[in-house]
Parts: sequence; C-alpha cells; structure tokens
Amino acid sequence: MNEGEICAKHFSTGKPVRVRWKNGIIASIEENSSAPENLWIAPALFDLQVNGYGGIDFQQDGITTEELLSAARRLRRDGCARFFLTLITDEWTKLTARLRHLKKLCNESPELQQAIAGWHIEGPFLSDQPGFHGAHNPSLMCDPFPEKISELRELAGNDPLLLTISPERSGSIEAITLARSLGMIISLGHTNAPMEILRAAVAAGATGFTHLGNGCPRELDRHDNILWRIFETPGLTVSLIPDNIHVSPALFRLVHRTLPKENIYYTTDAMSAGGAPPGKYKIGSMEMEVGVDQIVRQPGKTNFAGSALKPIVGIFRAAEMLNCCWREVWLRFSETPAQLVGLKNSLAVGNPANFCSLKITGENQLEELKIVANKMENHE
Ligand SMILES: [Zn+2]
Repeated sequence: MNEGEICAKHFSTGKPVRVRWKNGIIASIEENSSAPENLWIAPALFDLQVNGYGGIDFQQDGITTEELLSAARRLRRDGCARFFLTLITDEWTKLTARLRHLKKLCNESPELQQAIAGWHIEGPFLSDQPGFHGAHNPSLMCDPFPEKISELRELAGNDPLLLTISPERSGSIEAITLARSLGMIISLGHTNAPMEILRAAVAAGATGFTHLGNGCPRELDRHDNILWRIFETPGLTVSLIPDNIHVSPALFRLVHRTLPKENIYYTTDAMSAGGAPPGKYKIGSMEMEVGVDQIVRQPGKTNFAGSALKPIVGIFRAAEMLNCCWREVWLRFSETPAQLVGLKNSLAVGNPANFCSLKITGENQLEELKIVANKMENHE
C-alpha cells in the first residue's frame, strides 16, 4: 500500500498525530485531537549490522533473490524496514565475489533495493589477536591496502558503505583517509589499538565503533583496556547489541551513563538464526549452535558469534536493562544509526514512509506490531 494514513500517538512527543503518506513518502504529519488508546507510531527500526536472518546466511555463495527477500521480509516483520547487509572476514576473492553477486541481485529487485540500505564490510582488516578476532578467522585477516579499499567502492557503486577496521593494522590511517574520500563510513572494531592510534583514526575520519563490549577477550586488563580507551576517545558513535547477553546489563547501563546518549546506537549483529528457532546454523563455513537461551556459540568455544536477536525484541530488552520506557531507547535503533551513515530515518515530511505502529500495554508490554514500509503488513 503506497499511500494511506494513520492516527496514533507520536513515540517522541506522546501527542496524537495523523500521519499521511503517498508514493512511499511521508506527505504530512498533523496534530490530531485523539488517537486510539495505546497505539503508537515510531520510525521503523534500522539495523547497520545484519549477517543473516530468518535461517538465511548472507555469507553463503550463490544466495538467491528469494532467499534475500525472505530474510528482508522476516526482518520487516520484526520491526526493521532497512538494514546494512553485512559481510564478514573471508578470503578476499570470496568476499568480493559475494558483494558483486548481492549487489547484482539488489539492482534487479526494487524491494531488495529498498530493504538493503547499504553494505557493512566487517573484515578482513581486523585484529588477528586472540579474543579480538571474535568468531572471524584470524588467518584470513590482512592489512587494508588502498587497492582493496577502492575495489570495495567499485563493487558497491554509489551505495552507502560502512567499513569496520582495526586501526592498529599497518596502513590503516591512510586507508581511513582514502575510504572517507570515497564516501565510506568508518567504524573501528575488533581492535586493541592504543589510545594514540584510536585518536589518529578519529582525526582521519573514523566516526563509529562496532559492537562495543564484544570483539574483545572476556578477560581484560583492569587498568587499560579497549573499553576504557573508547570511553576516553571523543567523536565515536558506538553500537551495542541489546540482547542482554552480549553486553551485561551493568556494562550496558555504564555505557549509557558514560557516553553522550546521541553517541550510542543498537544493532542485532544477527546471523542466520535471527528470528528463527533454536538449532544449528551456518555463518560462512562455520557451524553455530543456537540454544533456547538464544546464545549463538561456536561449538567448544566460549565466545559469542553474532546474535539471534529480533530487532523489536532488542528495543524492549534495552528498555528493561536501562529500567526505562521503550520510547526512550527507540531513537538508538532507528534515527541514530541512520544518521551515522548519512541516511534519513526519522518521522518527518519528505522522508521515506517506513514506520512501525505499536500497541503497547502498561509501560513496556508489546501487544501488536505493524510495519509500514511502502505497504502495510500484519505482524503474524
Ligand atoms: Zn564483529
């Protein structure tokens, strides 16, 4: 449904509004005298790091349009209209072949173009040190040579491109400067860089930090570790995985107390088990086990490997950890990540009509979720 209207309470102001949309664009937002009890409107969620979803692993070769559409529709059903498809560390030729293939599928499908707002390349320019490489294969890590940075831009065309990089790798500062000149967004991550290198990376144009509290060893030096260093590096907007598993509730609260609120955003970092039942799932060539606790584990290892989190569930888990209302955290999973990559995702006239309507009882009890992303779909 490309046009329509809805009366609901605005998630931010709490006031009843009538929102009209036409041709997939928000045409007007007007104050209204009333709205149905407990019905809210909020921008659709926007996820910058999705490695797979609904049983579909984006790291597989030869993925089909139908598979991608199935994952995108599952994500939409779970509150997220647009996302950055994320490719993780692999042999360079395999990774680039995947990006080329996926880009071609998007070019052929308006629905995929709308859902896949950009690409997040997480690896292979990451730390290969124990703990810091996470579930990525350290033997496939390499330095960010300029020709590789340029190749990523060529493959992605003009699409938004987010690159997670560990700045202590040789040539990183030059690579960040080059990537910025090619319009890429740089997020630091899977890194144990010392303070002076983190600051040099920010000076060169890095603006993000990927899944703070993860991509590092479980045991850290209490005097000097990557968390403390990021807390003391101004200019970075950090992502957190709000599943109550990847970041402990205490650390989650501490990050919110320490960093400016506008410098925090949420991501699922979902792998193929996201939005799917417990079982065995692949991420690239690795097989993962996902238990009823939703924890994604590499068999025999203690580190987590992506999440099985649904975006909408992340909102309510974040609110629970922070002991606040869902309305207070919503921006961090909608507008803030979009802003980081220069896209618009707020409820404003002229912006894409991607939004959620939510029936909420009490403070944080979700009863029903519907999403408008050019068409209204019932949440089953
Ligand atoms: Zn990671």
